[in-house]
Amino acid sequence: MQTYCLLGDPIAHSLSPAMMNLSFQALGMDCRYDLRVTNENSIEDRVRELREEGAAGWNCTMPCKHAMVPLCDRLSTAARIGGAVNTVKNENGILTGHTTDGTGFMNAMADAGLPLPGKKMTLLGTGGAASAILIQAALDGVSEIAVFANRPASRKHAEDIAAKLAPHSETSITLHGYTDPEELREEIRTSAVLVNATPVGMDGGKGSGHCLIPDASFLRPDLFVYDIIYHPKKTPLLALAESAGCRTSNGESMLLMQGAAAFHIWTGRDMPVELVREKVF
Ligand code: NAP
Repeated sequence: MQTYCLLGDPIAHSLSPAMMNLSFQALGMDCRYDLRVTNENSIEDRVRELREEGAAGWNCTMPCKHAMVPLCDRLSTAARIGGAVNTVKNENGILTGHTTDGTGFMNAMADAGLPLPGKKMTLLGTGGAASAILIQAALDGVSEIAVFANRPASRKHAEDIAAKLAPHSETSITLHGYTDPEELREEIRTSAVLVNATPVGMDGGKGSGHCLIPDASFLRPDLFVYDIIYHPKKTPLLALAESAGCRTSNGESMLLMQGAAAFHIWTGRDMPVELVREKVF
């Protein structure tokens, strides 16, 4: 039997075991996926244990995504640029670290009928998820990305990523702040997709019930609005976008597709995504 698991803390709420075990079962594969509560202090011991067990691979979520980087023998380009790993493949003791959040987003957009290579994107946020999206979108050939950063330190972080991307991508990356709403309006006006990759609008958080777009006049029917939040399923941004006639999606498809990308890295097989969507989400 091949074994896989999720490292992080807290992880009890994770949908990954259900997604992965349903997929293994549906494809008749002798594999199992479980949860291993792990933090920055225990990750070295955990990885040693997984090597000894011969685990075939694992996912990492907070707070393990950065701590896993120096423990890998190899890194994908996206994981190296972002300094974060969410998927590890163990091949005869050689650990390769990948990050699939960005791939998950890109595949979710293609699945929604809007493949992004060659198009312009406005991206709100510069945190972990936004960075993964920025990196993969640039590596995959999105033509232009307008990134909106909140704090000056966050802008600097995005600038550093853009500099690291430059040798690998011809994407034009521009950095903006929220002080002048007209700057936001102009970037959205020339974009095919607007992505919220901040927690603003998420249930329970500080930004619950809020939206970074001032009003519906910033949106238009041929704009796709993607909110990577999935609790609630309809954020204030998605409600506003619907009122403006936009096509929309919440973050469930990104969550599903990042799991599908990890599944493919480990097994070389396609996750039965429609079955997983129906049974797990
Ligand atoms: P993070 O690393 O903490 O980053 C949060 C980002 O949001 C930062 O850039 C932060 O900027 C910005 N931000 C926070 N409050 C803001 C405000 N009031 N105005 C403007 N910008 C603000 O978090 P994360 O891990 O990227 O997660 C972000 C959201 O994505 C969460 O809701 C998470 O659940 C969701 N998510 C979804 C998926 C998926 O698969 N669908 C995957 C990962 C995460 P400053 O630091 O400058 O304030």
